[in-house]
Amino acid sequence: MMAASRKEQRGTRNAELDFSCPHCGVIISVARAGETRNCPACRQTLGKVAQLDQLLARWWEPRRSRADLVKPNVPYLVERLWTANGQGERLYAGVGPKYTNYDIFRNMVTRLMIRGIDEGWAELKFPQDPLAEDPQYVLTIVDSERFAEGVEKLFPEVDWDEPVSASVAEAMNVEPPKRAKKTKKK
Ligand SMILES: [Zn+2]
Repeated sequence: MMAASRKEQRGTRNAELDFSCPHCGVIISVARAGETRNCPACRQTLGKVAQLDQLLARWWEPRRSRADLVKPNVPYLVERLWTANGQGERLYAGVGPKYTNYDIFRNMVTRLMIRGIDEGWAELKFPQDPLAEDPQYVLTIVDSERFAEGVEKLFPEVDWDEPVSASVAEAMNVEPPKRAKKTKKK
């Protein structure tokens, strides 16, 4: 028998990449997790967030009795991703909201990130095998301007001069939005 290539072996997992349409419940097959598709029945988009939601539930199912694990959900995972390596604290310090503590700040930015994933200005890369023991998702901000705008709207009390925009970009390791001039200091 010919050895199946890695790719073909992964192909056998395809049954696990059936999602149910969050709008009408029809089953939609996706070749690779994270690929957005339109539902053949209702034409609505099966977005990345809906897929992530279903994958995390599926990942959890065989592990639900394990005391060493926390049941994951979309906000939990997204928050872990964007706050990793002190990034959350750095962004909080960079923005410096006047009336919001770090816990609430984190929740608000997490919701913004989730929206960004579906809107496409934040990119969520799915792992090759989302049901593996420790699947590694990667979240990257691909449009720093839209991200900065989103953060700005959340905290209108902040004086959004250029150093704030720049420190937001710096905290998140992205290029500063074009409108921010790096050279000017207040
Ligand atoms: Zn549908």
